[in-house]
Amino acid sequence: MVGGGPAGMTLGLELARRGCDVVVVEQTGHFNRSFRGETISPDAVSLLARLGILESITAAGALVNRKMKLTEHGRTLLEVDFDDFPHRHRHPLDVPQPTLLAILEQEADRHTGFALLRNTSAIGLVESDGAVVGIRSRGPAGEQEIRARLTVGADGRYSKVLEMSGLRYRRTPLERDVVWLKLPAPPDWTSDTYHIRIAGGRHGLFIPTYPDLVRIGFNIPKGGLQTLRRAGLTGLHTRLDELAPELGDLVRGSIQSWSDTSVLDIFTSVVPQWSRPGLLLIGDAAHTLSPILGQGVSHALFDAMTLAPLLSEVLSKGRDEVTMAARQFQRIREPSVRRSRSLQLQQERMFTFSDPLRVLLRSTFYRSLNRNPWLKRRLLNNAFFQLQQSAGSSVT
Ligand SMILES: Cc1cc2nc3c(=O)[nH]c(=O)nc-3n(C[C@H](O)[C@H](O)[C@H](O)COP(=O)(O)OP(=O)(O)OC[C@H]3O[C@@H](n4cnc5c(N)ncnc54)[C@H](O)[C@@H]3O)c2cc1C
Repeated sequence: MVGGGPAGMTLGLELARRGCDVVVVEQTGHFNRSFRGETISPDAVSLLARLGILESITAAGALVNRKMKLTEHGRTLLEVDFDDFPHRHRHPLDVPQPTLLAILEQEADRHTGFALLRNTSAIGLVESDGAVVGIRSRGPAGEQEIRARLTVGADGRYSKVLEMSGLRYRRTPLERDVVWLKLPAPPDWTSDTYHIRIAGGRHGLFIPTYPDLVRIGFNIPKGGLQTLRRAGLTGLHTRLDELAPELGDLVRGSIQSWSDTSVLDIFTSVVPQWSRPGLLLIGDAAHTLSPILGQGVSHALFDAMTLAPLLSEVLSKGRDEVTMAARQFQRIREPSVRRSRSLQLQQERMFTFSDPLRVLLRSTFYRSLNRNPWLKRRLLNNAFFQLQQSAGSSVT
């Protein structure tokens, strides 16, 4: 496995549990990462429960998200109460990704077949007879070759394994980038509500973040960071005032340097074929999504948990069986990824509307949705409960 993010670590754990030998190669020496995959959708929560690690995660510290509120210039357009959904795991969770990854590692370490090589990067593929038979890596012990029956690229949105594999892909930049920052939670905000604020073609996500912070992501035009920076930090403060004027003092007190911010280049990637003999891509490497509606971790976990049983059956057999399992994996997983991507792109498009007529249409759409519980449930089921619906795990 190249990459010790949610996809690689979960696959490592699930294969080790099934008695397979696994090496996860991770380029960083730690799991510290910020602004990444912190809001986990209810479906991802159900997967953590299935993995048997949900209790450890909540014990280590997580925030339960009970409501989502979309407002425009202070007027509520849409309110979602996750308590209204009839599923066992109905609330998104905010979990620091280092917590998630550390617990996955702790579980995987119980199995003798599992090894995590930190500070180690994949720098090349080893090939034989047209198939990938391993990687070349560079780490504390220098360069080495690691041979494997299957090499899995779980190395995220800028996947080097994808680049090296020769597999075709299409990366589509969306119309915006996102600037992220964190503030102390405002004293009069509750920690269980996820706010989306829109103002014309601008929008911001205000997400309660463990332990007592609010994480803010607001859109700028694609490649617009230089322009924002030229206006200085005052420009950034003013920009946030448009979306959340009540946070003005907090923003000015907390964001005093550009290093308090982080920019995410938003794109989606479509890889028509996720595998070739000896190699398979999973997680963001196979299908980078937009951050809207927090879908990435869910798909990463579900990829790993779908793949592990398919692979463990065939790893001891021949290369052809492994290749067939890899193709079967893509057939199973792709429709769900496609559904999420199309829902995200629809929302992305609506959030970029700026001319008065389309802004009015958008407000009318969200208001009508808000008044129609059946429609609201249907749309949100697609976003957050795809998996629990199809598993029929709703409770009455
Ligand atoms: C700013 C931001 C905010 C996000 N917010 C959310 C959210 O709130 N909810 C949500 O569900 N999703 C969110 N996402 C998406 C989510 O983080 C990803 O979908 C998810 O982490 C994908 O998991 P992964 O394991 O496929 O890839 P990653 O998490 O990217 O992990 C890939 C790993 O591979 C390692 N790696 C890369 N190259 C190499 C190499 N050559 N050799 C060895 N190791 C390598 C990296 O260090 C990394 O640890 C966000 C993403 C970003 C960037």
